Parts: sequence; C-alpha cells; structure tokens
Amino acid sequence: MIFRTGLGYDVHPLVAGRPLIIGGITVPHTLGTLGHSDGDALLHAVTDALLGSLALGDIGQHFPDNDDAWKDMPSSIFLEKAINLVREKGFDIVNIDTVIILEKPKLKPYIPAIRENMARILSISPDMISVKATTHEKMGFAGEEKGWACQALVMVQKTEEK
Ligand code: MG
Repeated sequence: MIFRTGLGYDVHPLVAGRPLIIGGITVPHTLGTLGHSDGDALLHAVTDALLGSLALGDIGQHFPDNDDAWKDMPSSIFLEKAINLVREKGFDIVNIDTVIILEKPKLKPYIPAIRENMARILSISPDMISVKATTHEKMGFAGEEKGWACQALVMVQKTEEK
C-alpha cells in the first residue's frame, strides 16, 4: 500500500459587503471574505493539501490570482481540478481533516452542509471529511475578526497502477 499525506493552509481578510462562503456554503454574517475568487479559505486549504499530497505544486501555481479567468469564481472548480489531478496519478482520498479558525459566527449549524457539499464535489463519502472549527480566543488577526484561516490535512492512497 502506498500512502501519501498533504498539508494546506489558507487565510483571507474579512470585510463588510461580501458573502462568507465556507466549503461552498454561504454562512450568514455581517462580514464576508475578500479574495480574488470567492475567497473560500476552506476549499483553498483542501485544494492545496490535495496538490501537496502528490507534490503537484500549489493553488497559486495552478490558478494565478492575477488571472482574470478565476475572478469571483466558485472555489469548487479549484478543488475539482486538484482531485482530478490526484486521480489521474492513480490515487484517491483516504480521509480529510480540517480546522476553520474564525471568531464569529458559530459554525456548528453549518458543518453538516459543508461536509456534504465537499463530499459531493470530491465524489467521496461525508464520513471521510472532518470539519472542525475554533475561535482564536480574540487574539491576533482571526481573533480581532480581520480575517479567517483554515488548515487541511489529507491522506491519499494509491488505488490504480498508472
Ligand atoms: Mg485563498
């Protein structure tokens, strides 16, 4: 059995007048994400973790933020591209674990929908995706609600000879 792991991290500023999209789900809040795409730090971190698992570069290399093709795009397209690259190499996901670092609002009510949406995009079971949330205890950029961050870890396993 050949296993690989990948790590992803992303951060985006929070501003008024933009939607807060987390894992493809719009979370009602007074602040939203500033970003070139829809600024979905969770999907960006998982995309980077998938790319990292097979040393396929990073999200900025595949989707440059100075390229207008990606402006205001749903981040699901980044994740779809990353999982396609992983599957083309003969690998598939074992599990994904994530942490969302956001001071407000409480994300508990949205987590089932976020897991289900990510599972749909990746064509895997929601049981394979863990989404956890924490505040930053009012400290630093996340604690002061200047931004939010996500960490992601993915394990992939070789399923086909390529
Ligand atoms: Mg990003």
